[in-house]
Amino acid sequence: MATRAHNFFAGPAVLPVPVIEAARDAAYDFAGLGMSIMEISHRSKEFDAVVQQAQADTLGIMGLSADDYAVLFLGGGASTQFAMVAMNFLHNSADYVNTGAWSQKAIKEAQLLGGCNVVASSEDQNFNYIPKTLPFSTDADYAHYTSNNTIFGTEFKSIPDTGDVPLVCDMSSDMLSREMDYSRFSLIYAGAQKNLGPAGVTLVVIKRAWVEEKAKKDIPTMLKYATHVKKDSMFNTPPVYPIFVLGQTLQWIREEGGLGAIQERNEKKAALLYDVIDGHGDFYKGAVADKEDRSLMNVTFRLPSEELEAKFVADAKAQNMHGLKGHRSVGGCRASIYNACPVESVEALAKFMEDFHAANK
Ligand SMILES: *Cc1c(COP(=O)(O)O)cnc(C)c1O
Repeated sequence: MATRAHNFFAGPAVLPVPVIEAARDAAYDFAGLGMSIMEISHRSKEFDAVVQQAQADTLGIMGLSADDYAVLFLGGGASTQFAMVAMNFLHNSADYVNTGAWSQKAIKEAQLLGGCNVVASSEDQNFNYIPKTLPFSTDADYAHYTSNNTIFGTEFKSIPDTGDVPLVCDMSSDMLSREMDYSRFSLIYAGAQKNLGPAGVTLVVIKRAWVEEKAKKDIPTMLKYATHVKKDSMFNTPPVYPIFVLGQTLQWIREEGGLGAIQERNEKKAALLYDVIDGHGDFYKGAVADKEDRSLMNVTFRLPSEELEAKFVADAKAQNMHGLKGHRSVGGCRASIYNACPVESVEALAKFMEDFHAANK
């Protein structure tokens, strides 16, 4: 295989090498069938085994039971979940926390479909912090938040307390990046293309009892969680190839030692970059106001001028480090260092940042 680049793209993003290799092999000949995974029936026993293993691995990694939670592999991206959550569960009013562009898109869909109560927001400082006071209602249909703000580089470090109100989370950019009490959630969704696999599949983990007791019945079949729960995520043709690759990533997480080991490595990687930023505070300026809110996944920072930022991105690219330009809505620089980003890539970037500071300060 050709030399791998240092990949810091925000999404679609880096995948583990063994996952890429398995995807390559299965694209040609899957399970010794003489056919690609893309050429066989989604009802075949070979593909059924892929789905069942991926569901079992998702729950195993998260420490959840199949009696309590269903695992769904849906199309439409996390963006479809913004609407689907509200369509299914918004009866009177739901609470939302606004911590950035993705939260705002989720709020917009809820507003279209019913009452939406924004209980806290960090918009006053262009989303450079996580609100600390979250006055959730006691009678909301559910409470929704975005655990990691991919564009701004902020991340909730603990799970908000919503009492008895069902908790829903968009974990698209930090899903399975750390240990957490996942049983506190009624619904978690994540577009796969940040931390889990390729674009084209969205992972949904949902509490069965909540669907049974509270989900609306008078909505279109494909947009009803109950449809997919009832058919074990096989109501219609699912995104077979993305599911296969996602399944390989789950196996990789298990082989790496599970979420404890993954979290430890993610903390180490993030510290390498934040240490350089803090060590040269006159040159690199972390984009997040409170250090405790800094994301382990998306490290955002500014340089003294836009010219230097452009030079930083170009010089890094010349050294095989890609995807460091900040989101077009905020500018600056961003290093996305998801689960699959190797420590060696982050070490190379940290060294490059030191060298760039020395040469341009
Ligand atoms: C990328 C992203 C989304 C959008 O995902 P799509 O699958 O492209 O719809 C939603 N939420 C967060 C936090 C994201 O990072």
